[in-house]
Amino acid sequence: MQITRAFAYAVSEYFCVIMILLLLRSSLQIKRHNRQHYWFNVSLIIQAAYLFEDGTRTLLMNHILPSNEILVNFTSLCLAITLNILSYTTLMFVAYKIELPLAEDKRQNRIALGLPIAISIFDLVCALFAPNLIFSANEINAFTPFFSGLFLFLPISYSAFVFGVTAYNALINRKNGLGHYYLVLTFYPALMTVFGFIEVMLSTALPLYSYAVTFYFTFNFLYQLNSSIKEATIDSLTGLRNRENLKEYIDDIWKEGVSDQYYLFMIDMNGLKSVNDVYGHVEGDHAIRAIGQALDDVLQTGNDGIVCRYGGDEFLAVITVTDDKQADKLVQLTRERIGHYSRIDQLQSAPQVATGYIHLPKEKIPLADLLKQADSKMYAEKQAMKTGDRAANFFTDEITGLPNANYFHNFAGNFLKKLAKNNQHPLVILFNISGMHSYNDRFGYQGGDDLLRTVSRFLRDFFNQEDDVLVRYTEDNFVLLTCIPLSEAKQKTKAISEKVASIDSIGIKAGIYQTQDGKEDVIATVDMARRAMRLIGSDRQRVYCVYGPEVQAVYNRRDFVLINFKQALADGDIKPFFQPVIRSLTGQIRSFEALARWNDPKRGAIPPDQFIGILEEARLIHLLDLEIFRQVCQLQQSCQRMGLPIPVISVNISPVDFNSCDIVSEIEKIRTQYQIPSKYLKIEVLESVTTSAPDQLKEIIAQLHDLGYEIWMDDFGSGYSSLNNLKDFDFDLLKIDMGFLENFTENSQSKIIISEIVDMSKRLGIETLCEGIENRSQSDFLKEIGCQYQQGYLFAASMQPDELRQFLGKAGDQLEDISLSDYYSQIDRVNVLSNPTHSLAEQNSSLGENIDVPMAIVEKDGANISYLYFNHALKRVLEATGSNHRSLAEKIAQTPAVDKFLLEQMDRCQGKDRAISASYEAGGLEFKIRMRWLASQAKSSFVYIVTSEHYQE
Ligand code: C2E
Ligand code: CA
Ligand code: CA
Repeated sequence: MQITRAFAYAVSEYFCVIMILLLLRSSLQIKRHNRQHYWFNVSLIIQAAYLFEDGTRTLLMNHILPSNEILVNFTSLCLAITLNILSYTTLMFVAYKIELPLAEDKRQNRIALGLPIAISIFDLVCALFAPNLIFSANEINAFTPFFSGLFLFLPISYSAFVFGVTAYNALINRKNGLGHYYLVLTFYPALMTVFGFIEVMLSTALPLYSYAVTFYFTFNFLYQLNSSIKEATIDSLTGLRNRENLKEYIDDIWKEGVSDQYYLFMIDMNGLKSVNDVYGHVEGDHAIRAIGQALDDVLQTGNDGIVCRYGGDEFLAVITVTDDKQADKLVQLTRERIGHYSRIDQLQSAPQVATGYIHLPKEKIPLADLLKQADSKMYAEKQAMKTGDRAANFFTDEITGLPNANYFHNFAGNFLKKLAKNNQHPLVILFNISGMHSYNDRFGYQGGDDLLRTVSRFLRDFFNQEDDVLVRYTEDNFVLLTCIPLSEAKQKTKAISEKVASIDSIGIKAGIYQTQDGKEDVIATVDMARRAMRLIGSDRQRVYCVYGPEVQAVYNRRDFVLINFKQALADGDIKPFFQPVIRSLTGQIRSFEALARWNDPKRGAIPPDQFIGILEEARLIHLLDLEIFRQVCQLQQSCQRMGLPIPVISVNISPVDFNSCDIVSEIEKIRTQYQIPSKYLKIEVLESVTTSAPDQLKEIIAQLHDLGYEIWMDDFGSGYSSLNNLKDFDFDLLKIDMGFLENFTENSQSKIIISEIVDMSKRLGIETLCEGIENRSQSDFLKEIGCQYQQGYLFAASMQPDELRQFLGKAGDQLEDISLSDYYSQIDRVNVLSNPTHSLAEQNSSLGENIDVPMAIVEKDGANISYLYFNHALKRVLEATGSNHRSLAEKIAQTPAVDKFLLEQMDRCQGKDRAISASYEAGGLEFKIRMRWLASQAKSSFVYIVTSEHYQE
């Protein structure tokens, strides 16, 4: 560069430095110091330093000042570093000026600062250890091309960013008079980069950059002075006017006498404090701005008037409005518009506002009175929100007055984070009121609401620590967030449950989850608590369950089942096993129950109670049931093809199936596909259906009956259905729940209950099967009272399909011949608990006539007699007639004359409905009998009773 021009260049820069320092001096005079002002001043200083360095470097490079290479390189390095710092300070200035999140967010701030520091360190290291990389020997431009790029990288990228946001703001604020404010800000980075670029790249000798920058700062300073005057009347956050303007405006319209064309609106944001507390002030400011923008859009557009921020969370507007109707419409539009802006600004939730408006009177009244009137209108609306309007009532539950789930979802996350920072890990407790549904049924919704209020009051009384957050979560669920220790929470929960239990058939259950760190999703924490609570099930003794490994194991299994079920089904890992059902009368196997078994290649056998319930809940159980049904039919078909007897098999069908598919036609499709007659298939459904879906069940039973299936009621007595509602359903068989046998002893109540069930069922024409038979005395008892069928480990556990086929191959007379089933069933209809010699109709009406009747059921096969049944009473009679201690069978066998006598009587009553009487007297034996024919099929069966003097006709 020419020496004189270089000199002029440097002097110009020094001149600019002086100008800027002067500016700085007067800027420092401004007393109202805030952050943006601070960054403005810092930027001024750095800008001055930069220009000074640049000027000096020019002088050094051109040897106008005594210099050497090291000195030039040193100044160059300083220059590069200063420029990096300048980029940062400028960014911060603008960030504060227009309130970018960057200004308050520490993390963003660190990144913005880290970059210039990193590059500056890199510059320094290069200068020290690899100067060739950055300094070229070229006199004109002391930087290598690489370093020129690096030199400009930061200013260009930061400026581009600043330019972008300010230009965008200028654009969206172009209407409200704030556009030019942003435009001014946009200028600076534009100037910096454009002129800086021209200078560095084209090596002009003119200090264009310094002029431009100095000019800008001067301008900006003046502009700031001006706007700080204006700032007194414009709200910096929303760009709306402030209260001073409003006063003037209203005074004006009163003076002009046009006040009656105007309405005064008061708008107040709900819950600004909680938003500030939970999300921080930036979010709160955004919410305020969204409201301001919305008001500006709606009220000011097309209406004559003024909108201002009155302070805090309150806005006032004086607008020409024709009538209340239009005013209402404007309020509505404003609400919608707020929603719109909060979506654009990505607010956590749309701010809610309460509004009130009044028609301005013609005569002037004090502003304070006007405001009071508007305020009381607004207050009325706020009250209405609390009690009525659900949609408007955003964070509060109107029944209990507690915060609601919406509140919880919005605020609890940050609350958890905050507590986690202090190393606090609160408990999330989910409370559920049990018995709420029936309470509603009995006392109506009004009563239900009262109950909710009562329970919420209890909860509030017990959990009233400062940090406790209690919300009504859904229907009859409350969620509590509390920092009290677990033991205390347990104890309080117990206490509450005792209090609640004093209310009519109402209980409370709680699931407790201890939060881990602040990172958890709040909804997930409630889910955990719910999982724990679910584990309590219907156990009325248990009040709470704490989420822990057991709960987790249950849910892991649940996940396992849900994820793997369909594949397992497809892979054939789920199969039916078969447990025999014995006919008490003959001891032969009458049928088999198909029980699902899941054998996972990795996990091994999974028992049905670990997947049936889960599949029911997931509404997948019909897939299992139908597959089991299919495999059952397939097995029966294979037996038929192998020439084996076809086993009669009962299949379990879940009540859930009724709603998941058209179960009847699905079953029927499978059965016809395998061509199995329906008499080989029995359907078991759980007792619970009789109460949960009675009408549907009746319908399905009817359909299945039409198709020839028998329907068995499973687990009778395990739930709440009574013998009484049996008559409403057309079941063919009752499976008596194995629970009745639990405490089976000689004199136990179970005997009475089971006898009653069998007696009643016989009268109703329903067969009975008792499950879970594990010992001989249970079995003998059941046979004695006439329970037709038995199932249990005493006879056999369940066997695999292959085992079943093998068994069928060699079963012989262990298996009941299906052609004789009707014959035996007919015999089995006799009610040995009443006088069996009466006709069935009479037995049914001779209630209570019992049972010390000595009786036996005998079968006649040609001239042979065999005993199917005899009871204890008969045994006693025979012993009393002096037969020593020999068994009845022996006595019969050793007394051929008795057989002859019985055969004669059988011939007398065979095929007849009425019973006959006869007496026997020979060889020291002496008795009378009454005999009735029961059934014939190749053989014939008869029941007889022995009548002594007491049993005379
Ligand atoms: P359930 O229908 O009441 O079946 C009887 C259960 O009692 C079977 O258990 C059986 O193995 C067991 N058991 C049999 N004899 C005795 C005994 O003498 N003592 C004792 N303590 N238990 C005995 P399992 O196979 O574990 O089945 C449990 C339940 O799973 C079944 O109860 C049934 O409700 C359900 N289930 C099984 N397979 C299916 C199916 O294919 N579909 C549906 N929907 N449910 C099924
Ligand atoms: Ca069953
Ligand atoms: Ca059962």
